[in-house]
Amino acid sequence: MTRGSDGRRPFAQRPGGRERAPEGATAVVVGGGLAGIAAACVLAERGVGVTVVEREASLGGRLRTWTERLPDGTELRMERGFHAFFRQYYNLRELLRRVDPDLGRLTRLRDYPVLAPGGAVQSFEALPSRPPWNIISLVRRADTFRYRDLLRVNGLAALEMLKFDPEGTYLRHDGTTAREYLDSLRFPPAARRMMFDVFSHSFFNPEEEMSAADLLMMFHFYFMANPEGLVFDVLDDEFETSLWTPFRAYLEGLGVRFRLGTQITAIEAGSARRDTGAEPAGWRVRCADAAEVDGADLVVLAANVPGLQRIVASSPDLGDPAWRRDVAGLELTLPFAVWRLWLDRPVRPDRPPFAGTAGYPFLDNISVYETFEDESRRWADSAGGSVVELHAYAVPEEVGEAELRASMLEGLHDLYPETRDARVVHETFRLDRDCPAFPPGGDAHRPGIGTPAEGVALAGDFVRLPFPTALMERAAASGFLAANHLLGRWDVRPEPIWSVPRLGPLARRR
Ligand SMILES: Cc1cc2nc3c(=O)[nH]c(=O)nc-3n(C[C@H](O)[C@H](O)[C@H](O)COP(=O)(O)OP(=O)(O)OC[C@H]3O[C@@H](n4cnc5c(N)ncnc54)[C@H](O)[C@@H]3O)c2cc1C
Repeated sequence: MTRGSDGRRPFAQRPGGRERAPEGATAVVVGGGLAGIAAACVLAERGVGVTVVEREASLGGRLRTWTERLPDGTELRMERGFHAFFRQYYNLRELLRRVDPDLGRLTRLRDYPVLAPGGAVQSFEALPSRPPWNIISLVRRADTFRYRDLLRVNGLAALEMLKFDPEGTYLRHDGTTAREYLDSLRFPPAARRMMFDVFSHSFFNPEEEMSAADLLMMFHFYFMANPEGLVFDVLDDEFETSLWTPFRAYLEGLGVRFRLGTQITAIEAGSARRDTGAEPAGWRVRCADAAEVDGADLVVLAANVPGLQRIVASSPDLGDPAWRRDVAGLELTLPFAVWRLWLDRPVRPDRPPFAGTAGYPFLDNISVYETFEDESRRWADSAGGSVVELHAYAVPEEVGEAELRASMLEGLHDLYPETRDARVVHETFRLDRDCPAFPPGGDAHRPGIGTPAEGVALAGDFVRLPFPTALMERAAASGFLAANHLLGRWDVRPEPIWSVPRLGPLARRR
């Protein structure tokens, strides 16, 4: 398979005899992030009357945007942070095709360098697509790794990266931490920092609190089984313009209703039985503003972890005790910081649009927005400035904002010295905590798409899925799967689901 090819595999599902749900079928989708929007698309396209309820005043969840006003009066959209759209995000790409059929809004970046103190750079450009050639090539080009280091590396542990299988890997490794696994590889510290630490941090979880099995799954999904290469796409404009306004228009065209700025507080059995052939009475979905939707046949809970936990806690009849315990046991990982700076002068013209960083205590990546985003480019051109964004993941709770900012800025100045004297024209800094944790031992209790409550399904980037996936792709795939699961009640044709190969090249076939 050549680089940049479409290496997706169909994920086997139930067949579906009918094109559309019965007349009058209704659904409530709780949460207007990627997972909720994916579910709403599949349901509405098959004739279900959908209401999307979102707590915030705008759609998007962790890709939500808002308006920032700069001192010169310019109004710009700010979002929850830079997002990389990897090419093996097959389900997400199918979702995006609803509003951008030829994916013309996605621009491919040339490289995804990792920068470290002293000028060290690790590039992911033009790697072979197939394992093990991709990893061999990466190791060969790494200045931080010499052939004699191979003698020290624990080959058996390293082979686990080529042996991923969705059951065996979790049985063998879910009890250990990602840090223990990475320690066991015995890579030289500098090589480990450049190749593995950056990668594991990208999932927001600190290595010492993340399951080794989840880390191995991520290696498999992003590297070993990814024929599209590690270099990714970005959207060419801010997310309101490129995603949320088009999705809202598309869904409203299918009759979807939106209730924004109100949250779902509880779900209980509905008061009437609907005439859709459905066995159970529908669901009554209560909103914080005292409104309610009564008699919904289907409910997709696509809220984030705290939102889901609050709903389940105040809906005593939803699910069974074991499922309710599993939901209550979900955790969030440590906070992350996103800091966007509008600078009064440009960064050096050869700075990459996005660079991972290694060896800085609280800096994980730097993006230069005017190199890929239209709105930032317009501002940078007119102001002669630059729009730079810094991220820090898995920030320990004891680290204060002042220390965090000073450390992030020091990293920027060290790597891009031309920013030292730049004046900050405007800035926005957020320290948020709403990304899911993947702790050791968590897999056995991670809730899946189906729930014990008939007609209710879960979606979101924390839900257990039957194939390797992560982050935005997991959110989109889970939304599709939740809708497919619920439409099974009426034998309605499921949305096709795609996956990278489920097994590593050395996994034992069962
Ligand atoms: C800084 C940052 C950078 C990231 N970078 C990347 C990246 O480069 N690549 C990548 O693939 N992923 C990235 N991610 C992860 C990605 O954003 C998420 O995986 C994805 O957006 C999750 O979508 P979701 O629909 O599952 O959840 P969310 O987007 O969290 O949506 C859940 C929604 O439910 C709503 N809600 C909660 N409770 C209620 C309620 N009671 N009633 C109604 N609504 C409710 C919330 O307001 C929210 O809008 C990044 C995330 C962050 C924060």
